Amino acid sequence: MEKTLKKRLINALEGKAVDKIPCLSVTQTGTVELMDRTGAAWPAAHSDPEKMADLAIAGYEIAGLEAIRYPYCLTVLAEIMGCSVRMGTKEIQPSVLTHPFSKGPENLKIPENLLEKGRIPTVLRATEILKTRTGDLTDGEVPLIAGVEGPLTVFIHLAEMKNCLIWTIKKPDYFDILMETCTEICIEYANALFEHGADVVCMPDGGIIGSGMVSPSVLENSVKPCYKRFCEKVKGPKILHICGDTFHSLRTLSECGFDAISIEEKVSIKAARESVEERARIIGNVSPSRNLLFGTPADVIAEAKQCLSEGVDILAPGCGIAPRTPLANIRALVEARDEWYNKN
Ligand SMILES: [Zn+2]
Repeated sequence: MEKTLKKRLINALEGKAVDKIPCLSVTQTGTVELMDRTGAAWPAAHSDPEKMADLAIAGYEIAGLEAIRYPYCLTVLAEIMGCSVRMGTKEIQPSVLTHPFSKGPENLKIPENLLEKGRIPTVLRATEILKTRTGDLTDGEVPLIAGVEGPLTVFIHLAEMKNCLIWTIKKPDYFDILMETCTEICIEYANALFEHGADVVCMPDGGIIGSGMVSPSVLENSVKPCYKRFCEKVKGPKILHICGDTFHSLRTLSECGFDAISIEEKVSIKAARESVEERARIIGNVSPSRNLLFGTPADVIAEAKQCLSEGVDILAPGCGIAPRTPLANIRALVEARDEWYNKN
């Protein structure tokens, strides 16, 4: 057996044999029940490193997930680049209110001292706190998975989705400048997270890919080179999370160099495996709404076992955990995995 949960996750990401498939979340894990139990609630947990760490560690200590995943929003980089952000409530994630580059990339540049801006110091400090605290745990090291919003997400925040889509056709140079600049920002942030102690980064990105709004040629010629650059430049294990039905894009996405791709339940594990082959591991894909939020533990267990039977490499929710998700349903994920091993 692997000595620590961290070693098990790293082995799984490298495609090595593991004693048990890891059961965790690579997407957001903050729930109201965990906030109530820890006293670390949104929106404070988005800006206060101690609270960010307290809520993150609860996903492991209280919910039983086998990794610690933070932060809880996709607005850190957009905010630094000039978007104003509404911080939300205990149940609503932060959202971007303004799009300072909706007219084009004029004046777009990477800020000096990027890592000292906005909430980046919060997330880096939370990483350090978590590293110290997980070093003291009886189970040994628990992996830290840091979320980094991807370049398309930042792009859409900076320029608004409709412009992003129009520019793919009418101003491909604008599209490429935005994508390339956003990619550089993501690389710098991701590497800083590793330097401060993160074990894995997960990059949620490209909902517009999953919703079929990006043509195959734009994906291949404009998005893929940026993802490849991200993978080449970022020094540590990388997971791509894509929302929606990504089936038709999975082959291309799996050629970018990510260690694993996290998919929603709209794509079957079997179909994903056929597209991805051995180029990346597959993470997923228990329905965050139908079963985790609205179902019973028995529903979660049934769906999780189905994922395991289809050969998922890491068992996880298919997307971010909704804040009102019952704790019992999150715990049922690990129960399902353990039962599955006891019977098989
Ligand atoms: Zn998603």
